[in-house]
Amino acid sequence: MINKKLTPSEERQRQRFIEKSSRVSAKYLRRLTELKGAPDTLKPFIDVLENIYVNMDGPHFNTKKPLIGTYCVMVPQELIYAAGGQPIKLCSGSYTAFSIGDDLVPRDACPLIKAVMGYQTMCVMPIYDDCSMMIVPITCDCKKKMAGMLKDLVNTYSFHIPTSKEDDTDLDQIVNELYELIPALESVTGQSITHKSLSESLDQVGFAQYQMTRFNEFKKNQPALIKGTHAMAVMNASSYMPINDFSEKLYLLNQELAKRKKSKVFVSQKKEPRLMVTGSPIIFPNIKIPLLIEEMGGSLVADETCMGERSLYDPAVVVDQSFDGMMRALANRYTRPCTCPTFVNNDQRIFRIKQMIKDHQVEGVIYHVLRGCLVYDFEYQMLEEELGKLNVPIIRVESDYNEEDIEQLRIRIEAFIELIKLKDLQKK
Ligand code: SF4
Ligand code: SF4
Repeated sequence: MINKKLTPSEERQRQRFIEKSSRVSAKYLRRLTELKGAPDTLKPFIDVLENIYVNMDGPHFNTKKPLIGTYCVMVPQELIYAAGGQPIKLCSGSYTAFSIGDDLVPRDACPLIKAVMGYQTMCVMPIYDDCSMMIVPITCDCKKKMAGMLKDLVNTYSFHIPTSKEDDTDLDQIVNELYELIPALESVTGQSITHKSLSESLDQVGFAQYQMTRFNEFKKNQPALIKGTHAMAVMNASSYMPINDFSEKLYLLNQELAKRKKSKVFVSQKKEPRLMVTGSPIIFPNIKIPLLIEEMGGSLVADETCMGERSLYDPAVVVDQSFDGMMRALANRYTRPCTCPTFVNNDQRIFRIKQMIKDHQVEGVIYHVLRGCLVYDFEYQMLEEELGKLNVPIIRVESDYNEEDIEQLRIRIEAFIELIKLKDLQKK
């Protein structure tokens, strides 16, 4: 939505932006759908990505609920639903928006922030323009500074997340933060958060998390039942879908995967190296790394990123049914198991990655670092040492939001896959 009258040259720039952004997204969607073995029930998720990124139509929500933009998986969607709002995750992977944002923020800021600022200033994406409020976590420096910049453009709420999560005081801090968020949400939606509405939203999100747990179980199958890039498309689409709709579509996908399992229909062969991706967020249309992995003959079986299993694993556990009990359960659920590297002590992330390697029978780890994303980069060395003890190969790949590094990424990923194949051969 454009608030000011554009000059003819601004209008031309805007049109060029729309065409380019839509073309790049269409290209990545095509590569996604050309990957063999897509389940029929994947289509609704692809349609969502197409609507948002290719048609730039905005979410076709059958609802008049105010849209509340969020920029972190640690913002509880249950609270937004309980206030009568519709959460929508806005972290962006757009190369076109990145190129605009590149002129707006410091050169060394991460591309995710540049892309968000690019979209926000171009005013071409309904998912950004139609938001009544943006909730930005105060986590890494980039998000912190982005909150400051967004404040000048839209109604922005800074959501303070403690830097550690071990002590009771940390939990109290996040509980207080959630209580402070309540009036801010209510003033936007005009609806109060009650015991009933919070309890209902916990059930709704809990059902989605249950479906997600089933989905993750299917992803552990050897050989694979679904391509990892297709699984990541599901998670990306979840950012723009009402929770009940997402659960319904994921239920159908799970049913199809159950049938595949029963009739032994697989999308990979036993000899394909089973890989895991972790590190900086991988957000559509920036899916070049998962695509390269699977186009080069790897099987992407696990994904420990914000746009992967992290965002919907395990429901909140409500032991005390009071309003305060539910709030504490949310605080617990959204911070304690979160493996985000912005927490000071992150041994838990190493533990979680090792657990996923075991559960998904992972043979090699691709560690993705977005240029400028220091928090993830800091943790690479520690993980490399730990995985060395387990004799699990790991490779660090740095990338940016453009296509200039694709050939270099292709060569490195292909060599890594060959290394694992060789390792397998030597075992025999
Ligand atoms: S990396 Fe951390 S701060 Fe960023 S969205 Fe994920 S959980 Fe939130
Ligand atoms: S965690 Fe990394 S990718 Fe995410 S906003 Fe911060 S610097 Fe950017």
